[in-house]
Amino acid sequence: MQNDLNTIGYEIFYTCINGVYIKMSEIDEKNFSKLNFPEAPKIIHKPPGPKARELLKKVKAHEATAPIDPTIPPSPVTVIDAARGSTVKDVDGNVFIDFYAGISVSNAGHSNPVLLKALKEQADRIMHTYLFHTPPRIMFEEKLSDIAPLGLKNNIKMFFGVGGGDAVEGAVKLAKYLTKQHTIIAFQGAYHGQGHGALALTSNIWWKKGVSPLMPDVYRVPYAYCYRCPFGKEYPNCDLQCVRYIEEHFRDPHMGLLEPAAIIVEPFQGEGGYIVPPDEFLSELQRICRENDILFIVDEIQTGFGRTGKMFACEYSGVTPDILLLSKAIAGGFPGFSVVATKKDLLEEIERGAYFHIGTFKANALACAIANANLDFIEKYNLPQRAMKIGEHIIKELKDLQDESSIIGEVRGRGLFIGVEFVKDKSSKEPAGEIIPAITMDLFQQGAIAISCGHYRNVMRFMPALTITKELVEKFLEMFRDVVKRAEKKI
Ligand code: PMP
Repeated sequence: MQNDLNTIGYEIFYTCINGVYIKMSEIDEKNFSKLNFPEAPKIIHKPPGPKARELLKKVKAHEATAPIDPTIPPSPVTVIDAARGSTVKDVDGNVFIDFYAGISVSNAGHSNPVLLKALKEQADRIMHTYLFHTPPRIMFEEKLSDIAPLGLKNNIKMFFGVGGGDAVEGAVKLAKYLTKQHTIIAFQGAYHGQGHGALALTSNIWWKKGVSPLMPDVYRVPYAYCYRCPFGKEYPNCDLQCVRYIEEHFRDPHMGLLEPAAIIVEPFQGEGGYIVPPDEFLSELQRICRENDILFIVDEIQTGFGRTGKMFACEYSGVTPDILLLSKAIAGGFPGFSVVATKKDLLEEIERGAYFHIGTFKANALACAIANANLDFIEKYNLPQRAMKIGEHIIKELKDLQDESSIIGEVRGRGLFIGVEFVKDKSSKEPAGEIIPAITMDLFQQGAIAISCGHYRNVMRFMPALTITKELVEKFLEMFRDVVKRAEKKI
């Protein structure tokens, strides 16, 4: 018998790490709880426990960077041994409820047996080719084309990247190449990656110190962050000032926008604070792009594949991106896979076609095989709708908590893309970034993982697997309510 995946008769069995077997045929929505470690949350040793501490000494000796985002001290830190569904177990046997899904990656749950089966079957065939196409790659292209949003449905061409930031680099090159212009309009609060192009488009200066200058010709404008409207307006009586401001750049040469090639936008902003703009924001940006003959690049790297309650967040606005960027949840946690998908005619214009943005490991056969199983799983169990339903419940509970709490300024989100913005005072909205480390640490020590984001690092973001069960959600919310009450006393 093999270790994890076995064929016994005609039935495929999958074993959990603690020896519990699940039949593949038993995997259905009623049984999603079987995909988790049943004991979650369970804290045996205050994390990081003794084994984790020993291992982290080695990390410190060998790794250039701190184990977790060094911008949020003190950080929750441990060493993960295994993960199942929406639960994570560390080397000391602590089991956590996972409300971050590897930063919006494991949408179908950690170690989803259906995905693992596809991965193992493909590994038995071939892992890597570079030059040659493979059946799973061809199948992936068809599947993606079929689920692509709105005007892109069955109307895309694509090339690949090795991660989100690399897809952004490819998109920027493409926009410049096609328009023969060079300026890219990007947003305050944007995150697009860490390369010289993608980092230039990312707004947070923290990442740029000491490594600038980056790609020139990035023009930055405000996002529709209505809770902190940069124009001091209130939606819907604002006439979308943020859009009018951008539009004015195309009329008034004194605003300094030189030869724009594209607007790049996250349909809902991720690192910037889990911000959901009004639906018309995106459709208005699309209109500006069309009217000015520039490309409309939609970065769905964090929002894609059901996270927001639709397969793609841009569907809420009814827009059709010229260029759609996908990564993260695309292959359920298998790394190094991203896609630059364009309207078919855009890439047909390029003589170099797929050779426009090459790389050794792109469209890897394992990644494509697991992505196919992932897309099937998301569709079969209608995970976007599931995310919507569970998300509505969480948002309602969090809004109730907001009413009682003096430090929750706003609860926002769609589907399982949920932000809770903390303030010192609800009327002044002064950001309460300094209590976030206490909140993340308190949650962590109770047995839950959630991380922060936002301009002032004062937003907790919740993005569990779309397969998370009601039971785990309730346990998490109960913990969060207590944690917020304790945090309130520290303000
Ligand atoms: N775009 C967005 C919207 C993202 O959220 C991220 C990652 N957080 C990236 C691009 C970069 O992706 P990667 O980390 O895979 O390079």
